[in-house]
Amino acid sequence: RYGGDEFAVLQTGIRSHMEPSRLAQAIIDAANLPFQLDGVSAQIGVTIGVALSPDDGMDVASILRAADTALYRAKNEGRNRFALYEHRMTEAERIRKLVDDELRGAIEKDELALVYQPQVHADTGKIASVEALVRWRHPTHGLISPATFISVAEERGLIVPLGEWVMRRACLDAARWPGLRVGVNVSAIQFRQQNFVETVDRIIKEYDLEPGRLELELTEGVLVEDADQAEASMMSLRSLGLKLALDDFGTGYSSLIYLRRFAFDKIKIDKSFLDSMEATGESAILVHSVVHLGRALGLEVTAEGVENEEQRRFLQAVGCHFLQGYLFSKPVSADAIDEMLRAERGNDAVRPARATLIEMPAA
Ligand code: C2E
Ligand code: CA
Ligand code: CA
Repeated sequence: RYGGDEFAVLQTGIRSHMEPSRLAQAIIDAANLPFQLDGVSAQIGVTIGVALSPDDGMDVASILRAADTALYRAKNEGRNRFALYEHRMTEAERIRKLVDDELRGAIEKDELALVYQPQVHADTGKIASVEALVRWRHPTHGLISPATFISVAEERGLIVPLGEWVMRRACLDAARWPGLRVGVNVSAIQFRQQNFVETVDRIIKEYDLEPGRLELELTEGVLVEDADQAEASMMSLRSLGLKLALDDFGTGYSSLIYLRRFAFDKIKIDKSFLDSMEATGESAILVHSVVHLGRALGLEVTAEGVENEEQRRFLQAVGCHFLQGYLFSKPVSADAIDEMLRAERGNDAVRPARATLIEMPAA
């Protein structure tokens, strides 16, 4: 056993790759046999990556690395199976591996950064709040998008420290912008952590942030698995004074039910809604109805991914409160937000940046 739920098997004296393939299948078959656990029938699965020496590596570290890469492929192909290492890795597999190997270190080495994207008032175009979006500045691979590393971070159990880092950084930066609300994305896995509410409470107190200035952006994924638990956590967060936004509205399946049951302050209409708006008149009607529904329920409504003037006019006309998108600003550094706020509200709108070191509790 070489860590957690990972095991290594060394097979020697093999003549062809058929032999490790046969052994791998035998291990999978054996592991799959149901067994009795406290009188209940249980079953486990196993996924295997196979690397051959000397072809795939000449030392322990490189053989294990190759086997690990093959394991990724096997997992991606659906688990409970094995895969042989292939020298050509897909780009996606390379990134997954990179994230797996280096993301933990990236948090410690301060390679993560936050950028902020304004949400503006639909009527005035002035900044109403900002959304924090994480970036990974990798020393050799350049800027890595959260779209690629968040899902791997979730799979590998790194989303909790990552999410905590993001929240701390956002609270620290929020101190520069008195009165401005800051949105932070919360992954479903992070939200379901037993001590999530406590952690948020601790962080906002530590950074002395008015709770009403922190807006957590949750997706439907948060609500589907254990609705009762989610509801309880949301109530606790609200009683602490935090704001809750339902992110990516319109991409899930039963959004309306969620809106009735769960106490959100805001809905954020997904960009894909707007994208299809020009193509078909129908989505325009949909966007219109969603905005109305949101307003009727007393919620704030933000439209995401607003890229052109036509969309802006339409959204303003149907009563959307806030707009976010490249038309107003791409996600930018905290310094650039300083500049925008100064330009709109004068010098008093911005406080000096505080020390940037974020101490993370040991994992
Ligand atoms: P999201 O929460 O829906 O964030 C909006 C994404 O749309 C951002 O991409 C933003 O840069 C992009 N965007 C904004 N306006 C426009 C526009 O006008 N046109 C186009 N084409 N795109 C626009 P980004 O920063 O790459 O983030 C992608 C996703 O990664 C986010 O989607 C969010 O789900 C996730 N994410 C980002 N930061 C974090 C984080 O700190 N924690 C967690 N859990 N997830 C995060
Ligand atoms: Ca978001
Ligand atoms: Ca979104």
